[in-house]
Amino acid sequence: MLNKTKKPQIILENVSVVYNQGQSNEVRSLENANLKLYPQEYVIIFGPSGCGKSTLLYSIAGLQKPTQGKVTIESSEIYALNKKDMVVFHRKKIGLIFQAFYLIASLDVMDNICLPKTASGESLRKRKKFAKVLLERFGILNQERKMPGELSGGQKQRVSIARALANDPDIILADEPVGNLDSVSSHNVMQILEELNRKDKKTIILVTHDPSHLKYGDRVIYLKDGKIIKEEIIKKKLSAKDAKIQEISVDEKIPQDLKMLIRAFRDLSSSQANVLLIPFKAQQLFSHILLTKTHEHIDRANKNLEELLFDRCSADEFIENLDADLEEGGAGWDRRMAEKFAMRAETILKQVKRIDLMKPEESSSGIVYYLAKTFGLKLTNKQIRRLNDLLLLRLKNRISIKEVQKGIDIPFSGGGVGLDKRTSMKIAQEVEILLLLNYG
Ligand code: ADP
Ligand code: MG
Repeated sequence: MLNKTKKPQIILENVSVVYNQGQSNEVRSLENANLKLYPQEYVIIFGPSGCGKSTLLYSIAGLQKPTQGKVTIESSEIYALNKKDMVVFHRKKIGLIFQAFYLIASLDVMDNICLPKTASGESLRKRKKFAKVLLERFGILNQERKMPGELSGGQKQRVSIARALANDPDIILADEPVGNLDSVSSHNVMQILEELNRKDKKTIILVTHDPSHLKYGDRVIYLKDGKIIKEEIIKKKLSAKDAKIQEISVDEKIPQDLKMLIRAFRDLSSSQANVLLIPFKAQQLFSHILLTKTHEHIDRANKNLEELLFDRCSADEFIENLDADLEEGGAGWDRRMAEKFAMRAETILKQVKRIDLMKPEESSSGIVYYLAKTFGLKLTNKQIRRLNDLLLLRLKNRISIKEVQKGIDIPFSGGGVGLDKRTSMKIAQEVEILLLLNYG
């Protein structure tokens, strides 16, 4: 409920976030945001893709240090805290929910939920008891020993909500939490958020680009081109139970997740980010290389791929593990398939190591050479130059992957590289996977 007689819980004063400041590719993601959010409010941050919603949310979350301005939460200026206090603040005050869940694939549901509490000093028994209460409440207690890979999207998101609640924080921040879910699961998650606000008195800040969500909020903050352009108080707030189930378009593409992921973990050290990213990277690389296999074969192989990405096994051991029977703990693949798969993974990973975003020119020409070899492209010098230019822009994050693909597909006479549609898709996807794996 919006109650402005109370002291604000969260205050943003002239908060700006500028990327690549002073350079030609400068982006003003957030400009001079001033905002007061009150205890137990349900606030919606709404606007089109790229308008700065996540940037705003992460600057509240303590994950995105503003270039300018102050963020104060319950009287602490959060970016003035030292590292240790920041960690404690984070653990106690804030619960985060993301579109892509970010569950750790190698831990079961219970451990995923208890993990964020490890440093809080509470006994594991107590933490587990609390986790069980949450699982029960969200109707997934019987999934407690399952691995994330065995859950549906909706179940995963409920686990990630339970994880966000594990320390009983006052503030829940959710970045497009239903963006990857079917309509029934979306409704279920929206209902949980509504209840957390109404019954548990949590402050909820929900980022969405879906207008059908606006009715759940007490207040809507409209963002456009990095600026807060409007604020609206919703008088007749709907509870999730009353709301009609809405269809939500599901964007299953990698790049959106990737972009979010990279931003979400921007301020973690690269080794921290890497630990969180590896399971995700493994999945992406895996489905990129091979799409059709039975579930068990896939799950096992996926785990092996994680081991490879963590450098816990060599390429040879990787092949052995893929080749070994399921009963022996292997992935049960046939040898030739395993070898082919491992070779492809190795080639990709080798190229990934060669990419250095600090040296975009060298990196882009390296990738052009790699692509030509991998896909057996026969390109003229002029085509090579155009492909190189496109990749350079992508490496500098000035164009999207879609624009890369388009640029490759456009006829040479029209200024493009002039390859066919299928090849352009293949190349664009390959480039994105290289960049994803290079991150962290
Ligand atoms: P939204 O969540 O509304 O889709 P974001 O907050 O993610 O928007 O991004 C706002 C703008 O900032 C976009 O133009 C985006 O491309 C840019 N941006 C986000 N992160 C970075 C980054 N790390 N480097 C450069 N630009 C970025
Ligand atoms: Mg976003």
